[in-house]
Amino acid sequence: YDVQEKTDYVFKVVVIGDSAVGKTQILSRFAKNEFCFDSKSTIGVEFQTRTVTINGKVIKAQIWDTAGQERYRAVTSAYYRGALGAMLVYDITKRQSFDHVARWVEELRAHADSSIVIMLVGNKADLVDLRMVLTEDAVEFAEDQGLFFSETSALSGDNVESAFLKLLEEINRVV
Ligand code: GDP
Ligand code: MG
Repeated sequence: YDVQEKTDYVFKVVVIGDSAVGKTQILSRFAKNEFCFDSKSTIGVEFQTRTVTINGKVIKAQIWDTAGQERYRAVTSAYYRGALGAMLVYDITKRQSFDHVARWVEELRAHADSSIVIMLVGNKADLVDLRMVLTEDAVEFAEDQGLFFSETSALSGDNVESAFLKLLEEINRVV
């Protein structure tokens, strides 16, 4: 998928969800194939990019990180402006982070373009013994709301690539 050619499209994607669900780690896993055990070092980064080819188109994904503004309603509308996709992340071991997903969807509906493609992501899937959110509950919510869905582990890397690529493919289908 990785290429270095002329860019056909730049797709802005925002990563949202409660604090500590793993947004920054998912992003660095996708952009740099890294998991940073001292995650403080990534604070302040606004966005990261990675270029992929989808159906022969060279697409630069410009993926924005909240960098610690994820308190409810603290994310400004500038963050959402021009976003074609959103990764809405919760932590499968933190029930509250899943209960708040509906609020994040409301935020997107209020501030983002109505055609935004949303991928709901249940992260920390490696922590199997600590699971508090059933996969089937998330699947049901995603189907109700018209979201795509995946469970990921930024730690192991499981499904991170496929979740981002699915989101980018869907954006590419509608642009
Ligand atoms: P953010 O606040 O949503 O950006 O969350 P971070 O990316 O900073 O991650 C919060 C904490 O969860 C950090 O201690 C990470 O090391 C940890 N973490 C992130 N992703 C995973 C994962 O997939 N599995 C596990 N076990 N821990 C993770
Ligand atoms: Mg973060």
